[in-house]
Amino acid sequence: IPPSVLTIQGLPIHLLADYAQWLRERVEQGQGTQVVTLNAEMVMQAAQNPSLKAVIQQAELVVPDGVGVTWYLKLRRRGTYHAPGIDLVSQVLAHLQGKAVFFLGGAPEVGERAAQYWRQRNPNLVMAGVRHGYFSPAEEAEIVAQLQRQQPRLILVALGVPRQEIWIQKHRHICPQSVWVGVGGSLDIWAG
Ligand code: UDP
Repeated sequence: IPPSVLTIQGLPIHLLADYAQWLRERVEQGQGTQVVTLNAEMVMQAAQNPSLKAVIQQAELVVPDGVGVTWYLKLRRRGTYHAPGIDLVSQVLAHLQGKAVFFLGGAPEVGERAAQYWRQRNPNLVMAGVRHGYFSPAEEAEIVAQLQRQQPRLILVALGVPRQEIWIQKHRHICPQSVWVGVGGSLDIWAG
């Protein structure tokens, strides 16, 4: 079922009853997807940054995130749509099995600790790999090669806004069957 779309300052917000269910299906079926969790700060950044704006407009799923965007939706629509990015990705990771996951970003060791956290919560989770987000151009080429080789079905990218969104759009063709999500500070939260 394609999501219905509402627009905020030229940016789409997709309205779905169950975001986690939709994402789980995309991962299961290997349907290439870029997910943006859109909060008020990103709406403001996009107004100043045409590259970010274009990425958001082209993402297959733009999830309302944060109280600002949720409040705006309440004004425009009947329902309440609240899907904080970290909860959404947590719901997918908690039940995933058989399909490999990759964590890219965060300070050195943050990704490894986040992976450890998830291995404990979901013993069936398959971690394809973890790479920190402070890479040189040569290391970036290695990361790209690793992703290309492993084809993880779910790739979480924590490089901060807007870099993570733009990085995903630039590289998503190397894993055309993957679901790519810009997760901001989520790895730090799981790392504790
Ligand atoms: N980050 C990174 N490489 C960078 C910049 C940021 O890996 O060059 C990571 C940072 O360590 C953190 C995450 O990106 O885990 C989110 O960064 P930040 O909180 O600055 O961005 P925001 O989510 O607030 O946009």
